[in-house]
Amino acid sequence: MILSPSEIERYSRQMLITGWGIEGQEKLKKAKVAIVGIGGLGCLSSLYLAAAGIGKIILIDREKFELNNLNRQILCWVKDIGRPKAEVAKEKLLAFNPEIEIIAFNTEISKENIDKIIGKVDVIVDGLDNWKTRFMINEYCVSNKIPFVHAGVTEMHGQITTIVPGKGPCLRCIFPKTPREMRYFPIVGATPALLASLQVMETIKLITGIGQPLIGRILFMDGKEVNAEVIKIEKMANCPVCGESR
Ligand SMILES: [Zn+2]
Repeated sequence: MILSPSEIERYSRQMLITGWGIEGQEKLKKAKVAIVGIGGLGCLSSLYLAAAGIGKIILIDREKFELNNLNRQILCWVKDIGRPKAEVAKEKLLAFNPEIEIIAFNTEISKENIDKIIGKVDVIVDGLDNWKTRFMINEYCVSNKIPFVHAGVTEMHGQITTIVPGKGPCLRCIFPKTPREMRYFPIVGATPALLASLQVMETIKLITGIGQPLIGRILFMDGKEVNAEVIKIEKMANCPVCGESR
């Protein structure tokens, strides 16, 4: 897959990064990434994945934009209120970078349709706001050996980890007990922006092979007191999802 002259110009600054070059950029062009949930995290990660030149991006969200989303869901402008999130995001991202392919699904992802909607991709990026779906995606990723970049946010803090099946713990090893679901949690837009930027960084590293992804480690970021902590996590031998007994 060869880069067009306009792509070479568009990505020229990032191709200067050590280890990136034309080769790294071509890997990104060949890559297929799915983003599940186009909320605070997904709006920002999709924008920066499009900016970085991921060749094919799959967007999945069943909801429509509401006015109270606008403090963080930056792909929604006032005129887009009431329209499907995935569809609006696709329009904006293609206007921003017409040289990539975007596929939008205005539907709820489930065990039944995930294979049809996502299928084989290089990375799945977590843009979700509920643990039930996250754990479903985690199981799909473990079964299909697909890397999964998890992030979760609340208020002014959040966490991120990268799951690469076979190379480290899965989401269930990290959270054996499902965290409490919160339907309407407090959040400021800068929090998902921070964590989603890191998710994009992780995705780029997984695809290009540059740097060290957050495998077997979880980063907790607190924007309020400005603290960051990286905790090492081992794979759980008896994990119901990725354990040996399974
Ligand atoms: Zn596990």
